[in-house]
Amino acid sequence: MDFAKTLEKFVAAASVSADPAFAEGMARACEFLRGALEGLGFEVKEVRADKGQPIVLAERGEKQWPRVVLYGHYDVQPADPVEKWHTPPFEAQVKDGRIYGRGTADNKGPIVALLCALEKLFADFPALPLRLTFILEGEEETGSRALSAFLKEHGGEFSDAAFVLLADTGSPSLEQIVVTTALRGILGFELRVKGPAADLHSGLHGGPVYNPLQALCELVGSLHNADGSVNVPGFYDGVKTPADWERAELKKFPLSEQEYQKIVGVKAFHNPPGLSPLESLRFGPTLEINGIGGGYQGEGSKTVIPAEAFAKITCRLVADQDPEKVFAQMQKTLRERCPEAIEMSIELQQSSPAYLVQPPNRENSDPAQNPVLSRAFGQLENAVAAHFGTPPLFLREGGSVPVISDIKKYTGLDSLMVGLFLPQDALHAPNESFSLEMAERAQGMFYTFLRSLARDV
Ligand SMILES: [Zn+2]
Repeated sequence: MDFAKTLEKFVAAASVSADPAFAEGMARACEFLRGALEGLGFEVKEVRADKGQPIVLAERGEKQWPRVVLYGHYDVQPADPVEKWHTPPFEAQVKDGRIYGRGTADNKGPIVALLCALEKLFADFPALPLRLTFILEGEEETGSRALSAFLKEHGGEFSDAAFVLLADTGSPSLEQIVVTTALRGILGFELRVKGPAADLHSGLHGGPVYNPLQALCELVGSLHNADGSVNVPGFYDGVKTPADWERAELKKFPLSEQEYQKIVGVKAFHNPPGLSPLESLRFGPTLEINGIGGGYQGEGSKTVIPAEAFAKITCRLVADQDPEKVFAQMQKTLRERCPEAIEMSIELQQSSPAYLVQPPNRENSDPAQNPVLSRAFGQLENAVAAHFGTPPLFLREGGSVPVISDIKKYTGLDSLMVGLFLPQDALHAPNESFSLEMAERAQGMFYTFLRSLARDV
């Protein structure tokens, strides 16, 4: 199996899950996976849940062998704006050591690298004692609804596996791979306030009427303290300070505070006390105002007291914060602070807990961790060191991937997340690409890792 040629075929199946016009591409991507996996001796089936995109399930190996689940997604982001692409998004092309096309990195390239590694592994060891189960979904870019619904019903069928392996996260460079140990959870809601029955003239009615936009700003402004911490009682309940080994690991990450400040382009950082700016990005929870609206937004001025106003707010949550409890606290606090003259409503938009898995033998490791997973951490560390020259960093991540929490919730399985995306890959953007050097090293890493996993069990 040639990496670039195989990936080209996979990319040609334009599997944009967000747009029904790409239904044929979705079907072609499933067909591609079926063909590739059957060629490797897997038994393949497609399942559907919640009227969503098909989930490709594939199975190889004896029931009594140790089992590992391999997760990936075959759907991609829309190619828009198409005019910004230098090459057609669904015709993969190799240029200067990179392969360009939508999905070459996220997530088709890493999947093909794994398939190439498996082909070589099965050729060298036809009876490799590992039971491998692929779960490849087609809705990762649109929220993984079908997979969540499927796992809710059938999660137990995967619970005898040792862990889930996936490559759908990033690393800073080819020289420094990151294994992601945590993802922040997310809690999103919309806050709406209402005052007068309709927009009012601020001259005829200004004075006795509480302006809803003012009330909204006061409410939203009350959610933080001056030092940057969140001013909602109970918000930090359960939040632990990061372990010393985690802080040391982050220090090895090749990005200084100064470089990061330049990237984001801020005059100064404004992170809550107790964590450095880079630490607060990975180890701390946040509350962000993502949008705010109400009143006159057009040219010039309009003397109006708006009838209503809204704010869109999301919190990133860390391990041991309970999204339901945080939301309940948030509602209670906002209700208490809302002025009597103002009517307020809060609509929950998304809620997913944080996810955390730690390597063994650290001060905050889970003593009850599956022993195969505990060994796998060391085996993955060795495989990365052998093919990338340096052992990986085990680091928490600031982003959220709700499907990882759902996998844990419905199957009980932890996830080993090895980062194969590089900053220059332009994920979700025009001219997405994947490094061929990364593909080469990743194939070696998957080969060595899965082989040692089979040998040591
Ligand atoms: Zn992805």
